[in-house]
Amino acid sequence: VPRIGVLALQGDVREHLAVLTRLGAAAVPVRRPDELAAVDGLVIPGGESSVMDKLTRLFGMREPLREAIAAGLPVYGTCAGLIMLADRLADGISGQQTLGGLDITARRNAFGSQLDSFETDLAVPDLGPEPVHAVFIRAPLVDEVGMGARALATLADGRVVAVAQGALIATSFHPEVTGDTRFHELLLTRVAERAGRTAAAS
Ligand code: GLN
Repeated sequence: VPRIGVLALQGDVREHLAVLTRLGAAAVPVRRPDELAAVDGLVIPGGESSVMDKLTRLFGMREPLREAIAAGLPVYGTCAGLIMLADRLADGISGQQTLGGLDITARRNAFGSQLDSFETDLAVPDLGPEPVHAVFIRAPLVDEVGMGARALATLADGRVVAVAQGALIATSFHPEVTGDTRFHELLLTRVAERAGRTAAAS
């Protein structure tokens, strides 16, 4: 059984733990470096990325997280988690840092106060023909997808809201609140692929 952590410094941790448990993973909150070292995959939940950034530094988690990402740990970031995984931030709060890993530029609160939260159906070809019902809550956008990353989904106007790169996946929206488990399953697929490679190499 894969052991999947949810970064539990801030944000909607419980919903992700519930989805992962439903999928048969051993789902555990992660707050400390030793807890991070014990997981096969990680979810960085939605919340407030500037606060999450401060807490990762306060809890001594920034470098361990960066090292884990660089070492190929499969990570799925939703919303604030997408911001944390972005290499570049278009409009961070002064001093705000990200962990990086995804060759993208993220723009926080990209939909403005007019459209604080909304829902829409999105085509995500990687997940099959059924559209994903996507819930956006003060969501970021992906302003620019660099050479290293790949868009998984766009809004009708072409703006990118889901990306992948290597073992990293990120969405602007929150699948954990809709009952659609396919993005979490994709994370488990990345975890299984990595376990396969590790076994083959030893
Ligand atoms: N607006 C938040 C941020 O900048 C993200 C919102 C969310 O995670 N639902 O971090």
